[in-house]
Amino acid sequence: MTEEPDPPPETLLSGAPARARRREGASGPEPSLPADAGPTTIAVHGARRPERNAGAVVSPIYQTTTFHYPAEYSEVADPSDVRHYTRYENPSQEEAAETIRALEGAGAARVFSSGMAAISTTLLGLLRPGDTVVAPIEIYGGTDRLLREVLPKFGIGVRWLEPGAPEPTGELLEGASLLYLETPTNPLLRVRDIRAWARCADEVGALLLVDSTFATPVNQRPLELGADLVLHSATKYLAGHSDVLAGAVAGPSQLVDRLETMQRVLGGALDPHAAFLLQRGMKTLALRVARQNENAREVAEALARHPAVARVHYPGSHGADEEAIARTQMAGRGGLVSFELVGGRAASARFRRRLRLVHVATSLGGVESLVSAPRESSHAHLSPGEAERRGLPEGLLRLSCGIEETKDLLLDLLGALEPRAGDRGAS
Ligand SMILES: *Cc1c(COP(=O)(O)O)cnc(C)c1O
Repeated sequence: MTEEPDPPPETLLSGAPARARRREGASGPEPSLPADAGPTTIAVHGARRPERNAGAVVSPIYQTTTFHYPAEYSEVADPSDVRHYTRYENPSQEEAAETIRALEGAGAARVFSSGMAAISTTLLGLLRPGDTVVAPIEIYGGTDRLLREVLPKFGIGVRWLEPGAPEPTGELLEGASLLYLETPTNPLLRVRDIRAWARCADEVGALLLVDSTFATPVNQRPLELGADLVLHSATKYLAGHSDVLAGAVAGPSQLVDRLETMQRVLGGALDPHAAFLLQRGMKTLALRVARQNENAREVAEALARHPAVARVHYPGSHGADEEAIARTQMAGRGGLVSFELVGGRAASARFRRRLRLVHVATSLGGVESLVSAPRESSHAHLSPGEAERRGLPEGLLRLSCGIEETKDLLLDLLGALEPRAGDRGAS
């Protein structure tokens, strides 16, 4: 006589609705999104789980550091369904990660306490002593320091691609383990060809990582173009309101899951309240970005026509090749415009003093327009010679267009280019 197996014991978990962890493209029966759902539909509906959240249309903030642990762990049917501690996992983080996963068309995604936490955890999680990273010189300052000052301590080498070279070739590429790319670049908004970089990576069996912060998944989806992982400072456009720090990585689960242990031990977990703010911000991502794309295009055109403006940098403005790449790689050109004024540094300072609406502040991607001078902020650490070599004159300005009405933004910007009565320094 064979023994009947015992029914599963009543644990804390077996009484609760099944908690399918929404990862690896598990779209599940609810919600049912159209196969070709647009980004707003995905962001608004894609990660919702009312059946788990007392029917709430908006998910609660799981503001808890810890979770009930089953008395008998060995009796849990699916151990991967048990949450332990918010540095390891939390439903608020999972919801934001699920939205980013879906927006990027990825198998899996993770969220982090900042963009730099996402980038450092990813690089330290994937690389080993003896590995070599190839990156262009024009990358985000924090990433630049990570590559120059931190990775070499762990025996990881870095080779730099000079400004102006479109992609790494020959000796630069040989033996590389990981290619690291940002496009459009900061602050000149040069467009790099993700497909071409993916071919370079394939040639030597390297991974291609793309920091797509400036573009957002509304304008550019690097995984579809051959990147292995896409990274974001979610502080910028994804959260979108200049009120929360967050970061994200998305890609195939076999790569993203390799970062789990590193994130747990480095501790870059996203606080649940910040995760909620990120999730709430992303619901309007596509609407915001559409307006920002439009504002930046109008501003770039108006500035290019203005006699007080010496040069405008905008994705696609650096020649026919980059324009052609931008056309096939980007659905929209993004909300950033950089420009140089006739009169250089003094004119740049005078312009900033005259702004009434646009904030003079670093960062980007929020609903409010911000202008900064890279030589005094993001690139202040460069020697004058190095800055000039990288094509960053002293008076260069970088504008992050917000969602203001275009006419109001233009009035402020063009007004600040004209001398006005009562302005200090007006002539
Ligand atoms: C801001 C930024 C980062 C760093 O993100 P934080 O959220 O500030 O840590 C990385 N890459 C790019 C392109 C950025 O603009």
